[in-house]
Amino acid sequence: MSIADNLGKVSERIQKATEQAGRQAGDVQLLAVSKTRSADELKAAVACGQRAFGESYLQEALEKIQTLADVPDLEWHFIGPVQSNKTRAIAAHFHWVHSVDRLKVAQRLARQRPESMPPLSLCIQVNSDNQASKSGVRPGEVPELAAAIRALPRLHLRGLMTIPDPDQSAQSLRQRFAALREQLYALRERWPRPAGAPESPYLDTLSMGMSDDLEDAIAEGATLVRVGTALFGARPNPPSGNLDRSTF
Ligand SMILES: *Cc1c(COP(=O)(O)O)cnc(C)c1O
Repeated sequence: MSIADNLGKVSERIQKATEQAGRQAGDVQLLAVSKTRSADELKAAVACGQRAFGESYLQEALEKIQTLADVPDLEWHFIGPVQSNKTRAIAAHFHWVHSVDRLKVAQRLARQRPESMPPLSLCIQVNSDNQASKSGVRPGEVPELAAAIRALPRLHLRGLMTIPDPDQSAQSLRQRFAALREQLYALRERWPRPAGAPESPYLDTLSMGMSDDLEDAIAEGATLVRVGTALFGARPNPPSGNLDRSTF
């Protein structure tokens, strides 16, 4: 199967799930997760109209961003664990970061986001399984971190992201996704959209759902699904030097 075929199939799955959930066509954005894939593979997706790409490993991402610098309108999303020593490059080269789970990281991103660029869009990563070993904040910690991030300059808090443990029943996955949606709604209630700013970025994003569970995520309100394998095929090993495999 070619990337073009796969992209068509995934788009169809998204469209069908959106429809079945009674949601508006176009409600759900596809983020093509291109970690470990070559610049040529990304170009194949670009040729089919894909513009938003998700990367987890900074060094290889920067190389691809540079290789594709001439392609207009690309949108780069950092979705991997954010170590403090990587925030400067992330702030300078990405449009979005989905995986913020510490105030310290958000503070560094705010300080390091270049003045010449628009605000960086952020999601808070939530550990929806509530397991000590996983990245993401505990659900109970979301409101406090959200309030602190909203007070920082140069950042737009856009919503919440989660990567639930895939080894659970579809029913319990659905519960995790539904819980994330309820948490986002709670944030919106606390900070309603400012009147007179209908177009400004708002708490509008539920980043949840991957190749195997995007239908369940869309049924529970996902606005962005992060899909790698179903687009590009099974992933090769991550580049050497990336020891943090926690989201791989
Ligand atoms: C790799 C990755 C994905 C894509 O997973 P697939 O199962 O290949 O679709 C999505 N989200 C994050 C955070 C990832 O690291």
